[in-house]
Amino acid sequence: MEQYDVVVVGTGPGGYTAALYTGRYNLKTLTIGELPGGMMSEAYDVCNFPSHENISGMELMNKMEEQVKGQGVEVKIDSVESITGEDLNFTVHAGRGEYRCKKVILATGTERLRLGLEREEELTGRGISYCATCDAAFYGGKKVGVVGGGDAALSSALLLSQYAKTVYIIYRRDSFFRPEPIRVKEVENKGNIEFMFDSEVLSLIGDEKLTSVRVRQKDKEKTMELDGLFIEIGAKPNSSLGQEMGLSTKDGGYIETDRERRTSVPGVYAAGDVIDSPLKQAITAAAQGAEAAATLFEDLKRSEVVKTECGVFTGS
Ligand SMILES: Cc1cc2nc3c(=O)[nH]c(=O)nc-3n(C[C@H](O)[C@H](O)[C@H](O)COP(=O)(O)OP(=O)(O)OC[C@H]3O[C@@H](n4cnc5c(N)ncnc54)[C@H](O)[C@@H]3O)c2cc1C
Repeated sequence: MEQYDVVVVGTGPGGYTAALYTGRYNLKTLTIGELPGGMMSEAYDVCNFPSHENISGMELMNKMEEQVKGQGVEVKIDSVESITGEDLNFTVHAGRGEYRCKKVILATGTERLRLGLEREEELTGRGISYCATCDAAFYGGKKVGVVGGGDAALSSALLLSQYAKTVYIIYRRDSFFRPEPIRVKEVENKGNIEFMFDSEVLSLIGDEKLTSVRVRQKDKEKTMELDGLFIEIGAKPNSSLGQEMGLSTKDGGYIETDRERRTSVPGVYAAGDVIDSPLKQAITAAAQGAEAAATLFEDLKRSEVVKTECGVFTGS
């Protein structure tokens, strides 16, 4: 079984930045993720990551991957099923292999929430989508809905408006939820986006594919013909790996860390959207990944001799 100093789980901004730092510390690092580039690869236009005025999420993440590999880090696309062992002696069990390591960084992000309606699963990919970046182009000239009222919903609606004839934003509150003001302006200025506040999708209709939805708007119900429905109602943390290891979590499974990104289990660090921190963005995930790597390096120095670019550190 191959031995590493560090296994980072996650190939999003948190995982890649953690690996960039551990690679620079000359720690033998493997990064494993299911989705190359993580959630950011779905972002259509990123305007708030310093260094690029605007760049597609996919391009930004490809650049991060190249930079990480340039530091000698191995990147594998695979699913981690469990992690066993203890500090300095972990085994990471992935779909296509097992890896030994001294330390683990979890940067496993979040996954999208479902509406929880009947037939949602069978109509997914047949009119129901959780990724406008992936699927918007299939809806040229069509009528689509976006469920949700936060930034992700607005950003999806904007992208969809470039293809679809009409985009309906269906949201249960009476105004958008903590939106970036610039996004609201952009959405308001689009002629083909319509707002449906105080509204809720009650059921999904269609045999082979989605054809319409039953909606409650204020106190009235109606059937709306729709070719597609994009669900943007938030996310939940991918923390089951950590929870199986006994990590402390809060608020629905977000991993608790100290300020230096140690979790409650020695030798395990966490960063990015999966942790209990308020701002869920690429820049914060990257910063926390750097913090986790720096703390890990200090902890490793304390417990053994580590060769670095600068010399040899002897543990106390
Ligand atoms: C449509 C959209 C647009 C966005 N736009 C912006 C934007 O413009 N600017 C911005 O800053 N942020 C944006 N965000 C938010 C941003 O994508 C996230 O904050 C960021 O990706 C979090 O990084 P992360 O590394 O913590 O997690 P993620 O990017 O979610 O990465 C998690 C990684 O962990 C992997 N993983 C999870 N479980 C396992 C497992 N068991 N085994 C192996 N791998 C696993 C996943 O496959 C993935 O690679 C957007 C998000 C969405 C959905």
